[in-house]
Amino acid sequence: MALKFLNTLSRSVEEFVPLDPTSNVVKMYCCGPTVYDFGHIGNFRTFVFADLVRRYLQFRGYEVTHVMNITDVEDKIIRRVRETGLGLREYVSQFENAFLDDLKTLGCVLPHHLPRATEFIPEMIQLIDALMKRGIAYQAADGSIYFSIEKYQGCGCRYGQLVKLNFDEMRAGERVASDEYSKDALADFALWKARVPDDGDVFWASPWGEGRPGWHIECSAMSMKLLGPSFDLHLGGEDLAFPHHEDEIAQSEGATGKPFVKYWLHGAHLLVEGKKMSKSLGNFFKLRDLTGKGYGGREIRYLLISAHYRETFNFTLDGLDGARVALGRLDECLGKLQELAGATKAAPDSRLLNDFTAALDDDLNVASAWGTVFEWVRETNRLLAANQLSATQAASALAAWEQLDAVLGLGRKGEVEAPPEVQALLEERQAARKAKDFKRSDAVRDELKLKGWLIEDTAKGPRLKRA
Ligand code: AMP
Ligand code: ZN
Repeated sequence: MALKFLNTLSRSVEEFVPLDPTSNVVKMYCCGPTVYDFGHIGNFRTFVFADLVRRYLQFRGYEVTHVMNITDVEDKIIRRVRETGLGLREYVSQFENAFLDDLKTLGCVLPHHLPRATEFIPEMIQLIDALMKRGIAYQAADGSIYFSIEKYQGCGCRYGQLVKLNFDEMRAGERVASDEYSKDALADFALWKARVPDDGDVFWASPWGEGRPGWHIECSAMSMKLLGPSFDLHLGGEDLAFPHHEDEIAQSEGATGKPFVKYWLHGAHLLVEGKKMSKSLGNFFKLRDLTGKGYGGREIRYLLISAHYRETFNFTLDGLDGARVALGRLDECLGKLQELAGATKAAPDSRLLNDFTAALDDDLNVASAWGTVFEWVRETNRLLAANQLSATQAASALAAWEQLDAVLGLGRKGEVEAPPEVQALLEERQAARKAKDFKRSDAVRDELKLKGWLIEDTAKGPRLKRA
């Protein structure tokens, strides 16, 4: 069976054929975080979805180059920099580091490239320059550069490839300066924003005067620099389809005259307890809020990949408890298989692999893939209980699981690394022991237990394992 994805460009499920059909090379770009704060569980639904796509393409034999940008200059960031009085890099680096730690907690494979927008300003200027030379961009009275939708369409290009737009309401030359805007504000958008006093120290020189890039041009410049003018896959959350992705297409195709991306995949949003996350409703969770409550990255990852990426997902703490139970069942079965297999090695059980592949080939149908996995767990438990499995069959089942897990990224129980705040507690306990402050070291041990972690003192030193 062929791998298929729902391509937002055609709004239909299409067979996945790389841009160069004679090769197995796939170039993919996923819009990364805007590092103005810690990532929330909704953001991570999208990033784990990108990780699943990458892992599955690799499982299907593709050689993937995965790029995820770090947006380190944008309207919201500038506002926070102004409010805190910190330097731009000083402000964003705390959240950039936290983001990378969080990806690790969730078992995501690091993208091959994590470009920072501020390190690609010359490429952005070049791209804007190309649009100016083609007459698609123009300078407004305040010195900012805008993208002209009218001129772009006049060159035979199409604006509105990802979403339906109402051009009747559009007035030529009407402009929008902010990075985020709604579909109703169909208007020329900013490529380069002229420096204003509120920008503080955040500005760069350009042929059009001092200023800073618009958010959309950042992704066009970084993706094309690292992956070329045309590439295979572009991913992001559904909220980015307009204006961000539509504008990325317009800027890129307007500058190069070549098709920008072959397949666009958009992940649906995550709700918490049935509602849009918001701080005022008290249903807003950063990843760290959840690990602080004792949930492991493995449980959170499992829950995030339990639903199809195009379905709105309702995240609940009960759901996380359910994830813990489901993983417990899986771990118990894997543990028994390991006991039986011992050091025996065998080729992977192809039936499990084939069913799993058929499910994920169908636009990443994870519900069906999990159905296959848990049916296999049930059947394996039955055979184990009836003493009907040989060591070779157990080894074959484990070998198949290893291949599946290269996609699922869950690892085995105990293999998962503790999140940074739990590691920090372990270090604190070691320091307390060294200082012979046993009251403190016991208190830290109890705190770790509350968070769901046990300390195992081994010959190689202390080790953390899930309680
Ligand atoms: P941002 O850091 O705001 O630029 O967002 C990073 C990514 O998270 C983007 O791909 C967004 O589409 C995605 N995102 C934001 N909120 C949610 C949500 N509630 N559910 C799923 N994805 C989200
Ligand atoms: Zn982007």
